[in-house]
Amino acid sequence: MGQPRRRISSRSWAVPPSEAPSQRGEEILTIRAGGAVEAWIPPSHPRRESLLVRERLVEGFREGFVAMQGLIAHGRGECFDYLIGEQTTPPALEAERAAAAALLLAERPVISVNGNAAALAPRELVELAKTVGAKLEVNLFYRSRERELLIAEILRRNGAAEVLGVGDDASCTIPELFSERRRVSCRGIYAADVVLVPLEDGDRTEALRRMGKTVIAVDLNPLSRTSRAATITIVDNITRALPNMAKFAEELKGRPRDELSALAGGFDNDRNLREVLRYIGMRLEELAGRGITLELPKA
Ligand code: ATP
Ligand code: MG
Repeated sequence: MGQPRRRISSRSWAVPPSEAPSQRGEEILTIRAGGAVEAWIPPSHPRRESLLVRERLVEGFREGFVAMQGLIAHGRGECFDYLIGEQTTPPALEAERAAAAALLLAERPVISVNGNAAALAPRELVELAKTVGAKLEVNLFYRSRERELLIAEILRRNGAAEVLGVGDDASCTIPELFSERRRVSCRGIYAADVVLVPLEDGDRTEALRRMGKTVIAVDLNPLSRTSRAATITIVDNITRALPNMAKFAEELKGRPRDELSALAGGFDNDRNLREVLRYIGMRLEELAGRGITLELPKA
């Protein structure tokens, strides 16, 4: 297990080996599984990164720790990533800095990890947890013992010393939620003052807020209930947000508490989300004015 292998299935990349870019003398990335070359993605492919990220989720699904619904959620995220231009926006950067400050100030910070987060940024989750002194907890919408164990194993292989929320450890309950969705660790999310929830569901975000917790969400959809209910919403891809937060946390670590409080406490989520919407609006306006069709060679 460990960091999900970058194994690309033949279904995800339509160019058969005979027509692969190597034939055109181009350098290629080959990803081997079981000794057979399953796919070819040229470094020059414009959607290469996105395809590789997508494949990490598909692989996680095959291995049993990404839920089928997680694949759908990823597609929704990709859609919003297109709208922001697949890069960190100024308001997201501001939210990432405020979130790093809030995590450093916290007495009992916890980073909640689901299947998609484990597939997309396992090392980054562990690094951020270490930098800010947070606990890592497996927290699943579709909970099963198998998925819990697989995700905990991935985090351990990426350097986590302790992973909460597995088996009997998840014996406390979040009020107002039903069935397996309500189970959390009594030493983790239940007792936390600040919880980072990458790619969380709206009901659970609202329930955590009602318990009086500071909730930091990473969610590409600025209109989701999670985004609108969290204390600090980072509208950015988890693959960019976590490294940015870790960098800010390193920078802010030695700073006086007053300064951190000003950063975290001065953050206004409503204003930030409105800035994100304005950013998207302006970007679409600009694209609409300039034209967006691709230049293709004439046949
Ligand atoms: P909500 O329950 O908050 O109203 P939802 O039901 O539409 O939202 P969920 O499936 O509960 O969505 O949560 C997943 C969220 O994660 C979605 O808003 C989606 O846009 C977002 N998301 C998916 N992939 C990523 C990613 N790689 N980085 C950041 N956000 C992502
Ligand atoms: Mg939801």
